[in-house]
Amino acid sequence: MTQIRGTSKLAGVIGWPLDHSLSPAMHNAVYQELGLDWVYVPFAVRDETGLRRLVAAIRSLPFVGFNITMPYKEEILDLCDEVATAASMAGAVNTVHCTADGKLIGYNTDGRGLLESLSTDAQFDPTGKSVVLLGAGGAAAGAFVALILAKCAGITVVNRSLERAEELLDRMAPRSAGIELDAMIPGDARQAVGDADLIINATPIGMKADPESPVPVEWLREGHVVLDMVYGTRTPTNLVVGARAAGATALDGLGMLVAQGATAVDIWNAEAQVRTPRDVMRVAAERQLAARDQMEDNG
Ligand code: NAP
Repeated sequence: MTQIRGTSKLAGVIGWPLDHSLSPAMHNAVYQELGLDWVYVPFAVRDETGLRRLVAAIRSLPFVGFNITMPYKEEILDLCDEVATAASMAGAVNTVHCTADGKLIGYNTDGRGLLESLSTDAQFDPTGKSVVLLGAGGAAAGAFVALILAKCAGITVVNRSLERAEELLDRMAPRSAGIELDAMIPGDARQAVGDADLIINATPIGMKADPESPVPVEWLREGHVVLDMVYGTRTPTNLVVGARAAGATALDGLGMLVAQGATAVDIWNAEAQVRTPRDVMRVAAERQLAARDQMEDNG
């Protein structure tokens, strides 16, 4: 159990809704492991006015930092005093560091989490590789920036709204010298998927137990690496199941979630020069998921 004392510092996550967030369990477990006198709290905020008020209050409270999740990853940019380059390129902040001199510095650790999960969980390095990115929202933008920084060879954005895919491409093109870029709708993506080394699902398809997959699983093959950002489903998503059946390496989004959370702690706790133990956060997340499943079973 986390001990809350008069000296405890605060961290937390801001979003709406937060009922299913795994972050409080992951963070509080790792603070205890590291001996940090910190406590991580969910702040479910209904609207932008609430967000602004909360962030103003945070400035006068003993916060080490906080995470931001849907739907405020874009709105928070304007409320930060400084924003790191990758977050500014992605147009989304998911981690804010409250510095000792009273500043709020915004970061995007989703992209770093993605690269870390690919490296740790699939021993995959996107450098020089061809990538199909399914989706064109905030998570896709974070992934896009990470792939640029990793110097991949090509990125094809596949999205049901072609306009949104092209907008993302246009926004990233000035920073993507030497990377082949394309945008298309899912129906046209067979060749691109077949030719890709890495396929990333950055849409919510698969979150609900339905027969959908963001691309037909028949297009997948041995040699593909598939990362589905969806996590926390009772059974693996159809994309992950189909990819494994086709002989591909497939990861769900839990490794990425753990890595982005651990990277946030690395930032807030940088002075200690200790790498945040990912395994502790992963075990806490898995326990929380198992407890949730059990509660649902018990009605
Ligand atoms: P977002 O900004 O709302 O973007 C959603 C994207 O998915 C859009 O491109 C949208 O297409 C597409 N989409 C949504 N529903 C669809 C459907 N039924 N059929 C086809 N396309 C659909 O959301 P986001 O923040 O990018 O998050 C996307 C997913 O990534 C969520 O499931 C989120 O939980 C997950 N995620 C996971 C992690 C992790 O650590 N594992 C981190 C961040 C996000 P249109 O443009 O056509 O609307």
